Amino acid sequence: MKYRFLGTAAAEGIPAVFCGCPVCAAARAGEKGYTEKDVRTRSGSMINDDFLVDFSSDSNMHAIENNLAFGKIKYMAITHPHCDHLYPQEFVNRDGVGHGRNLLREELDIVCSEKTKDVLLQGLVYLGGRKTTVEKLQFQTPAPYESATVGPYVITALPAEHMKGGAYFYLITDTRENKTLLHCNDTALPLEETLDFLQNSGVKIDFAELDCTLFGVGFDHHYSHMGYVHCVHLKSELLRRGIATQNTVFYINHFTHNDYLPYEEMVKIAAKDGFLVSYDGLVVEF
Ligand SMILES: [Zn+2]
Ligand SMILES: [Zn+2]
Ligand SMILES: [Zn+2]
Repeated sequence: MKYRFLGTAAAEGIPAVFCGCPVCAAARAGEKGYTEKDVRTRSGSMINDDFLVDFSSDSNMHAIENNLAFGKIKYMAITHPHCDHLYPQEFVNRDGVGHGRNLLREELDIVCSEKTKDVLLQGLVYLGGRKTTVEKLQFQTPAPYESATVGPYVITALPAEHMKGGAYFYLITDTRENKTLLHCNDTALPLEETLDFLQNSGVKIDFAELDCTLFGVGFDHHYSHMGYVHCVHLKSELLRRGIATQNTVFYINHFTHNDYLPYEEMVKIAAKDGFLVSYDGLVVEF
């Protein structure tokens, strides 16, 4: 299974659009230990060559920077409707007159919550989507703890502690290889019931990427996102419950410019706890 980190920042990006803080200034200039790995765009990941998880306003840049043609994408999972994860305009462009030619497949399978679907459909109305724009999107909206199947992938929706309902993080299995990943962005520490569900399901994850938005915050601060201490805690819980094994590959991901350390410094800290650190364009095979 191939996993490509397309965008690894939180909502504002690094450097953030309007921000002149020391982190953003150094990331922009590539100085003070900040390198090109500290330039991070909004969320997106690609599984193999046909499946996108999240589709932000930086998606076109993801395609350009990684030499990818998104016309080959057959499947999509959207975690939640925040605009660093969902950008409805591109769906209008996909079905625009002459804007989305020679697609591998006219239909696009989308897995998301009912709320995310509602926001996307409202966006399409506002942005001038056509009847066919909607018809080409084939939605599956599993309830929490239910699964959807698209092509060879089974996607299980897990409730994220991130907004007032409707945010998911996902367990994704490629049935051809029997490999499973945990895509865990934009959530505070998962609920006990969610960890119980995963434990009782008997799943063993091969790869996990965990929300580390608030890198340096203390353990009591985890409203809507995790920080590094929560990632360490969650990893130990996944191992203790047998959901992860010693062979599971763990990444931290989805960083804000607040609380941010240069990539190379994060790598040293994270290595002590068995984590790797994402950056835009990184491809992992597992
Ligand atoms: Zn986000
Ligand atoms: Zn900044
Ligand atoms: Zn969010």
